[in-house]
Amino acid sequence: MTANEYIKVRFGRHMDQCTNEEIYIGLLEYVKDKAKSKEIAGGKKKLYYISAEFLIGKLLSNNLINLGIYDEVKSELEACGKSLAEIEEIEVEPSLGNGGLGRLAACFLDSIATLGLNGDGVGLAYHMGLFKQVFRNNLQNEEPNPWMSEHSWMTKTEKTYTVDFGGFNVTSRMYDIDVTGYDSVTTKLHLFDVDTVDESIIHDGINFDKSQFTKNLTLFLYPDDSDDNGRLLRVYQQYFMVSNAAQLILDEAVEKGSNLHDLADYAVIQINDTHPSMVIPELIRLLQIRGLTMDEAIEVVSKCCAYTNHTILAEALEKWPIHFMMKAVPQLMPIIRELHNRIHIKYNNPDVDIIKDGLVHMAHMDIHYGISINGVAALHTEILKDTELNQFYKLYPDKFNNKTNGITFRRWLLYSNPELSKLIEELIGPGFKKDATELKKLEQYMNDDAVVQRFLDVKNTRKTVLKNYLAKTQGINIDDNSVYDIQIKRLHEYKRQQMNALYVINKYFEIKEGKKPARPITVIFGAKAAPAYIIAKDIIHLILCLSEIIEKDPEVSPYLKVVMVENYNVTLAEKLIPACDIHEQISLASKEASGTSNMKFMLNGAVAIGTMDGANVEMHEFVGDDNIFIFGEDSDTVIKRYADASYCSRDYYEKDENLKKCVDFIVSDKMMEVGQKENLERLYNELLNKDWFMTFPDFKDYCATKEKAYAAFENRTEWGRKMIKNIANAGFFSSDRTIEQYNQDIWKL
Ligand SMILES: *Cc1c(COP(=O)(O)O)cnc(C)c1O
Repeated sequence: MTANEYIKVRFGRHMDQCTNEEIYIGLLEYVKDKAKSKEIAGGKKKLYYISAEFLIGKLLSNNLINLGIYDEVKSELEACGKSLAEIEEIEVEPSLGNGGLGRLAACFLDSIATLGLNGDGVGLAYHMGLFKQVFRNNLQNEEPNPWMSEHSWMTKTEKTYTVDFGGFNVTSRMYDIDVTGYDSVTTKLHLFDVDTVDESIIHDGINFDKSQFTKNLTLFLYPDDSDDNGRLLRVYQQYFMVSNAAQLILDEAVEKGSNLHDLADYAVIQINDTHPSMVIPELIRLLQIRGLTMDEAIEVVSKCCAYTNHTILAEALEKWPIHFMMKAVPQLMPIIRELHNRIHIKYNNPDVDIIKDGLVHMAHMDIHYGISINGVAALHTEILKDTELNQFYKLYPDKFNNKTNGITFRRWLLYSNPELSKLIEELIGPGFKKDATELKKLEQYMNDDAVVQRFLDVKNTRKTVLKNYLAKTQGINIDDNSVYDIQIKRLHEYKRQQMNALYVINKYFEIKEGKKPARPITVIFGAKAAPAYIIAKDIIHLILCLSEIIEKDPEVSPYLKVVMVENYNVTLAEKLIPACDIHEQISLASKEASGTSNMKFMLNGAVAIGTMDGANVEMHEFVGDDNIFIFGEDSDTVIKRYADASYCSRDYYEKDENLKKCVDFIVSDKMMEVGQKENLERLYNELLNKDWFMTFPDFKDYCATKEKAYAAFENRTEWGRKMIKNIANAGFFSSDRTIEQYNQDIWKL
């Protein structure tokens, strides 16, 4: 049945008689039907990828592509005067993730299904997900982001479980989202929810009563954890997630014939960061209820679980106070104490204890009682082994391994950049869609100027698409003849948006002094700041104020424009990335575990300005010095600076007149005219007295490197060669490669 025929049966009318809304609902159900026909009875062993976030993005087009019916449906729509783009506008982006970690989980699900592996995702059905970002008076405001509706990708299932908390229990329900593989099978994302959640307790933005756990359990992703009730709520959420996951895992194993002693033959669990760590004691608890001894249960579970570390920022390695655990999940504490005691006796080394100073160290539990611990880029894994987790590495050298992150090329090339995809296919055939390493064949065209020009033409097309999109959706007007310089990622001091902002100030002064750039520059930011992260919000304020000042200055505005897109999400990323000329990957070396937007940009022919951090290091290895702009201190230098506490930002400020001028501008009269004194002074003082992520030492090199990149951009043909070199070498960063490695080394499905 075609989509048209399906819709005719569903609504009793031909597609051209239906509203866009009806067509969307019709296509949604049509796709669900098609996806269902590709479900397979999985093999004996199954992967459960448990994650607090799945930043899946809109699914209609993605599913159409993966099911091989994109062109067909597109033509059917066009035949009755509709475009797929306008139907897509009806779809609301699911709000189930925050940033890179959640997007990674989504890319992984796509690759798992594409490779035909027996694996599902498990997470929570947050009603409001992450907040929606709205700018008012150059400040970030947070609003609820309702995304669920009657007709959505989530399908209610009959599966319900009881989850016990201290003093009460809740009944959960499982909802499923189909995960379509590219020309392959369909797997599932299981999302758990409770019926008692009450959206009406939300007031004044995203505030709500944090103590009513049955009403707020699955309201928001990452509720504000700046007070005890917020932190406690996170424990409730995490336990709710893993208790459901554990019950599902045991049910499915038993159904397939497991006697539970052999659970490891039926299940492997990937713990995505520490949020799902309580799955370990929960499984041990449930196995004991089902008749295993403590010894047996611990042994079984230790063979099933694998942990992925995503950060070396100490504050992000979760440690929960025992009194929180006693309140929320008292039934787990005896088990955690037992797990702790065994380690304490065996190693007699406080550095590797699970319980220390009244805190439960979740990552420590994962490492002791799992089969694998992996970092997410080569440099990151080395840093884990050498410094952050060195004590553990000495105990378990064989458990440590690297799995450099990847992205799905279906979404980030085939879907988001069809023009580029078509050009590549014309040059090297369609093989790259299944085997990303075939992109390497593009290198043979690097010296063919006519082909190089075609890559430049595609980029120009995409720059105009972005210009039109931003005008329509955000009322922002940009010049598509300018160079697009883009930094889009969560706002965090370690990612150093503040350094990019200081560069903008530097450029503003240069233009004021008559030194005009060869071509107008458009600096685009997109970033949400965690609601309780004050300095991050101050950095957003700085960027928005700069944008206004420059816009209003007729001397500067023809040459420089600063744009901060509102509510950066997957949908925006899909528009921004294909249009980008230069992307900013400027984290303080050693701090960005991998990064994945760097890979998306590379695949779309943008050239990076970056530090030797995360996966930038591997990208640099692939493309060489001429095709990526590397600057700044390396991770060894940075790690030493932290170790000997030798960094003093004020020294740099005093010694570098240009830097001083840029930093002082933050609290200048001009800024105060458009901004808030309190926010700007706080940020200024933070930089001057702390600058914990060391922007000042890298600032000079950063400015010089940006000038080099802008100059290189003016040699259009040479720039086109850099673009091709980047695209041709992006194959390694396909999540299909990453997932193949997880399967070979850890999951063994
Ligand atoms: C890829 C992606 C990220 C991760 O970006 P990084 O620059 O790697 O931190 C965050 N948000 C969205 C919407 C993404 O698509």
